[in-house]
This record gives sequence, C-alpha cells and structure tokens, in this order.
Amino acid sequence: EHTELSCAGCGVRLQSESPEQAGYIPEAAIAKEPVICQRCFRIKHYNEASSVAINQDDFLRLLGGIGETDSLVVHIVDLYDFEGSLISGLQRFVGNNPVLLVVNKIDLLPKGMNMNRVRNWVQKQAKAQGLRTVDVVLCSAKRNMGFDHVIESLDRYRNGRDVYVVGATNVGKSTLINRLISDYSDMERELTTSRYPGTTLDAVHIPLEDGKAIIDTPGIVYTSRMTEVVPRSFLGTLMPDKPIKPLVYQLNEQQTLFIGSIVRFDFVEGERQSFTLYLSNALNVHRTKLDRADDLYDNHKGELLGTPTTAELETIPEWTRHSLKVRQGERQDIFISGLGWIQANGGRGALIDIYAPKGVKVMLRDSMI
Ligand code: GDP
Repeated sequence: EHTELSCAGCGVRLQSESPEQAGYIPEAAIAKEPVICQRCFRIKHYNEASSVAINQDDFLRLLGGIGETDSLVVHIVDLYDFEGSLISGLQRFVGNNPVLLVVNKIDLLPKGMNMNRVRNWVQKQAKAQGLRTVDVVLCSAKRNMGFDHVIESLDRYRNGRDVYVVGATNVGKSTLINRLISDYSDMERELTTSRYPGTTLDAVHIPLEDGKAIIDTPGIVYTSRMTEVVPRSFLGTLMPDKPIKPLVYQLNEQQTLFIGSIVRFDFVEGERQSFTLYLSNALNVHRTKLDRADDLYDNHKGELLGTPTTAELETIPEWTRHSLKVRQGERQDIFISGLGWIQANGGRGALIDIYAPKGVKVMLRDSMI
C-alpha cells in the first residue's frame, strides 16, 4: 500500500509486509522524515551486529562483566513466551545494578485485558524466579504501546549511568532498540555506533546526550523455545502477529487436541471441563478421541492436521511426552515455550499429556489471565 514511497537512503521501493524482503520499513517508522528502509536505518544508526545470537557460555561471560559496571540493566522479555525468555540466573550476574524488566509484545494479549493484573502476575513470576526488579514495564515495541513508560522508567532509574540491554533472541530487542534510538538518544547528532571496546562480543554502543550509552548485548539462544527449533518457514504460523483470539474447548476425558502437527494435547483423566487455548490463530486445531490419536497422526501429520509440513517436520526434533497434573481448585496454564499456553479453567483437576518437540520447555504455571 506504500508503493508510492521509496527509501531516501537507497531508493528501493518501500513495503511493510515482509521484513525479509528489500525495502522493508516497519509501519510505525513511515511517519519519520526522511523515510528510509529498515536496512538503511540499521546501517546508518545501528549495527546489524545487534541481531547476532550467542550461546550460553559467551552470554554468561558477558553478563559477568555487567556486574563490574555501574549501570542500569534493562531485561527485555516476551510476554507471550515469558518463562522461555526470562534469563534465569540474571540476578547473580548483575551485581548491585538495578534491573528494569521490560515486558514486550503486550499487543498479542486478547483485547480488553486487565493490564494491572498482568503486571502483578509478571512481578510475582519474576520474583519466584529469583529476579529482583526496580520496576516492571509492559509495552509493545512493534505497535508502539506503553513506550512512553519505557522512556520514563529509563529516565527515572538511569541516574546518569550506562544502560545495558539484555534479552533472549526474538523477544523484540532490535525493534525496541530501534525505537529507543529514535526516541531517546540524540537524533540531531549523527550517531556513531561501535563495537563495545574491551570485549570480544559484538555489543553495540549507542551514545546518549550525557556521554553515557545504551549498550545492546547479543541475544541469547535458548533451544528450549519452540521458536528456536522450528524452520523459519514455520515461524509466521507459530508466532502470532495480532491479538490472540482465545479458543475454548469443552472436553471429556480421553479426548485429544492436535495443535497443527506440532503439539498434541491429551485430556487423559478428569471431569468434563473447558480449556482455553492461547495460541497463534494461524494454527489449525483438530479434536479427536485419544484412542484414535496415534493413527490420525501417523496418517495425517503435515497434511490434514495442518502445518508444519511433512518436509518441515523432518527438521524438527521428535516429540517427547510430558505428563502434567493440573491441581484441583486452581487456575493453571499449561505453558509450551514459544507456542503459547492452554488454560485449564475448571479448577477440577486433570491429568494431561502433552507431546512436543524434544527439548521444548513444557510446564504448569499459575494462570496469567
Ligand atoms: P530480537 O531478536 O530480540 O532482536 O527481536 P526482533 O526485534 O528482531 O523481533 C523478533 C520478532 O518479534 C519479529 O518478528 C518482530 O516483528 C516481532 N516483534 C518485535 N516486537 C514486537 C511486539 O511488540 N509485538 C509483536 N507482536 N511482535 C513483535
């Protein structure tokens, strides 16, 4: 729809549909003058090095260095994959530096949610993981929601110090930093970004007006997240891009739900009750009887049951089974990292089996919603 616009940097025709294609510009950036494509923007203002991903060892080494600085640590997590993207053990590495928890992708929550409730939930979960935070800010970097709170909090907690931004891959760190560059750093001046000296890592240095900097660290790869073990071609289906429309299923015991061909949910035992699926609405959901499930999967995975395709499935680890016991009297979520969660509504207790690619984190948690 923006065919009339072209990039002031390289002249390419601008589009907001596919980030992988040339001329991509996030919708939100179109209002900015001059209009340049994301690639030019990044080359100009922000090294592509920011999107490099590193392994646990290098990441921990980098975190260790943060403890020796005097800084504000901004930890970005993905609300949609909270347990999958929270850096466990962060507290050990940041020393006495304050941690601001920025929770991204709130635009994916169903419409009309009570955000205070979500914020309390986040606070409680972070605390339970041993993370002390000076504050929790909810935002959507992509849809520009809550971003004024992010800026306010940076001002409030920075106190003239550097800011270290840490996060797992895919949480929206680049999107958020790109926004910070235009809203928070000194845009009038030509920005010079550089590798952060003194480390072997490609941390990117974004200067601020007071001589301090935002230091963007590489994203850590957690292979316990579905998003990291599926082929790129399936990511568009797996990751929601719009507010989730929850799907409610009334189930009897001995019924099965296939979530595409990627996850199987068996209601093994318990009273009839409802389950609410918080998943990408691009995924196909298929209900069947448990005793038919094996055959159905063998004969129809990657086809009738929906994506991933048979070819994509060959690159994804085999399923393992997780047997979970939903406690009576509590509202719990069955959380499947990178896919979403299934809320058990009844408080009636249930035995559930989840089949998911080996290595993907599957767990019970207190209901978010
Ligand atoms: P990084 O790997 O942490 O730097 O993440 P990116 O900024 O590259 O974003 C990863 C994916 O999440 C991309 O597909 C983004 O479009 C998407 N994303 C980033 N921020 C948001 C957000 O606020 N809401 C939604 N729905 N998606 C987002």
